[in-house]
Amino acid sequence: MKVTDHISQSTKTLISFEILPPLKGKGIQSLYTHLDPLMEFKPSFINVTYHRSEHIFKKRADGSFEKVVIRKRPGTESICASIMNKYNVDTVPHLICGGFGINETEDALINLNYLGIDNVLVLRGDAAKNESAFEPEPGGHKYAIDLLKQVTNLNAGLYLEEDLKNTSKTKFCIGVAGYPEKHFEAPNMDADLKHLKAKVDAGADYIITQMFFNNEKYFSFVSACREIGINVPIIPGLKPIYSKKQLTILPKTFHIDLPISLSEAVISCKSDEDVEKVGQEWLLEQSKELKKAGVPVLHYYTLGRPQLVANVVKELV
Ligand code: FAD
Repeated sequence: MKVTDHISQSTKTLISFEILPPLKGKGIQSLYTHLDPLMEFKPSFINVTYHRSEHIFKKRADGSFEKVVIRKRPGTESICASIMNKYNVDTVPHLICGGFGINETEDALINLNYLGIDNVLVLRGDAAKNESAFEPEPGGHKYAIDLLKQVTNLNAGLYLEEDLKNTSKTKFCIGVAGYPEKHFEAPNMDADLKHLKAKVDAGADYIITQMFFNNEKYFSFVSACREIGINVPIIPGLKPIYSKKQLTILPKTFHIDLPISLSEAVISCKSDEDVEKVGQEWLLEQSKELKKAGVPVLHYYTLGRPQLVANVVKELV
């Protein structure tokens, strides 16, 4: 079922989760162990992130270096199918431009369609580790909107091979990313919102936001979107804080601010267990306020701490 159908058919705030594929070498059971404590909350859908290949330099026996391509977390598409099969819950695979040519993208979409997956979250992806700025594959997509247009084409039965006749139409429900604190490359919020509106005008059905720790940022973002005519559901993305290290890692990685009262509370903790308590309490307060404001879905980035998220959701339902 489509994310937008879940939203339109419900009168209350829904719950969804986001997970990463396991590191290569770990079995699918590690993922089920992560998900098991969350399933009692009957999530409407589960997102599975996509991780592009990386180039690394491996030292040979003779001391020289060899450039090799590795993917640390493969399997997004098949994990989505496994989760649907095991838990009977809808899944949302993330699909990125980086590392993909348009033919591979089309094949990935065809595979998802065959697997009975109705949703995709289309993203540009970040620059590869060895690049200073995002570089598309030769002939690949530069922005998420270009990938989105490929999905809407397929939804209209338009494949890359133009001479295909009587084609089957896919019916993907398309999500895109939005940034309450601005995407770090955008020169200003207005420009970023203009690009977000272009994605919606091109066919995006809903937006999921980057994580934020101050609900006011989400509320202002939603108002700014509505003012410029973005009328699709805007799903807040939420993440728990659970270690002191995150005070520097999260702003550096995700280009977001942490409120002073949160950072001071974390700094004053004596152990990471204390930080978990602070993070859990903060996430619960954020969730309660968002729920009260009537957001369509509370989307939790569960990465690494499913139990902490479960403790919060338990208090909400
Ligand atoms: P875009 O919408 O293409 O925007 C990128 C930048 O270009 C923005 O600054 C935008 O303002 C600007 N821009 C857009 N269109 C134009 C234009 N026509 N001209 C000039 N500038 C333009 N990354 C992964 O690798 N895998 C994942 O699974 C993943 N999941 C994510 C989930 C969520 C909810 C979010 C918020 C992010 C996720 N990311 C993921 C990270 C994402 O790929 C990065 O934030 C990336 O840098 C931008 O992706 P985007 O889809 O927002 O890009």
